[in-house]
Amino acid sequence: MNPTPATASTKDSDEARKTLPAVDLRSDTVTRPTPEMRRAMAEAEVGDDVYADDPTVNRLQARAAEIFGREAAIYVPSGSMGNLVAMLCHTRPGNEVIFEERGHSCLFEMASVSAIAGCMPRTKFVDDGILTWDVIEPLLRVKTVYYRAQTALIVLENTHNMAGGTVYPQHVSDDICDHAHDVGVPVHLDGARIFNASVALGRPVEQLTRKFDSVMFCLSKGLGAPIGSMLVGSREFIDAARIKRKLLGGGMRQAGVLAAAGLIALEKSPARLHIDHENARFLAERLNELPGVSVDLKKVQTNIVFFDVAGTGRNAVEIAAELGKRNVLCGATGPTAIRMLTHCDVDRAGIERALSVLRSILSAA
Ligand SMILES: *Cc1c(COP(=O)(O)O)cnc(C)c1O
Repeated sequence: MNPTPATASTKDSDEARKTLPAVDLRSDTVTRPTPEMRRAMAEAEVGDDVYADDPTVNRLQARAAEIFGREAAIYVPSGSMGNLVAMLCHTRPGNEVIFEERGHSCLFEMASVSAIAGCMPRTKFVDDGILTWDVIEPLLRVKTVYYRAQTALIVLENTHNMAGGTVYPQHVSDDICDHAHDVGVPVHLDGARIFNASVALGRPVEQLTRKFDSVMFCLSKGLGAPIGSMLVGSREFIDAARIKRKLLGGGMRQAGVLAAAGLIALEKSPARLHIDHENARFLAERLNELPGVSVDLKKVQTNIVFFDVAGTGRNAVEIAAELGKRNVLCGATGPTAIRMLTHCDVDRAGIERALSVLRSILSAA
């Protein structure tokens, strides 16, 4: 850490800030549809997607399958449903599913892996969130012993949200898939932010995901669509996924009004994600210079920044609340940890405003 003196800001400038729109760094899900998306939504050609008759949904699904080099794709209302549909397809009740301990589909999806898929999570904590075959292998239960639940699935998360948006090196995820397939266990990718990983590594998503049995990615995160995620895989897998989606109540009708925005997100947004990564880096480096604040810079690889406020002697919840009062929104993720995400609705000026508000809060302590 490299402490620099904080600049005090006046009450007047804090007042002025209140009239500005919020700098919303809580998540990259908070983005609003662009005017182009809203026009496309208004004009979308639609049909009944439960009959597979919606031309716009069909175009979105075909395009997603093409971009990922797969046979088929299916549009789902949320990333959580996409992950659950995949888990239902790959497992049976009484199986085990392996996750990194802070995996989204294990921790933040209402325990649907257990509550709905009837499986038991088996987890291991890895500091940077990146599992390796060495970590997974001891967790596996693949031999049929009648009193032991069998491993039916491994779930990887790229980028890893709660580890700070960290990215799987391709050889690591490839190696896990190869070994898992050798012992007959499929691997699902929670790729909510796989396009962020693609930009960080400079490799197409098709290449990063080719060895996975199924891939979920979100249109509604950094890609900026208002709603929706995709599940991609083989024709057989997607046919099965269609049935599970319906089982969960996720069969939508004239969903083309939503898919129209999703298509624009899919075609146009990946090309601008590097800006979010540059803003996250800028934010992380400046945060790390504030007295009492520290950032693990090597984990800031994409659009997520975690910072620790232990050195300020203040509580993260209290700091986040004070930021909120001054129109800078973020979330405390622990007693001294705060998370901020960059996205298309926050520009560099917004990041600078967030920094200056935080500086003034910390110097007023
Ligand atoms: C957001 C997120 C999801 C789920 O997406 P929802 O659309 O909010 O249900 C899944 N995995 C990861 C890693 C996420 O960040």
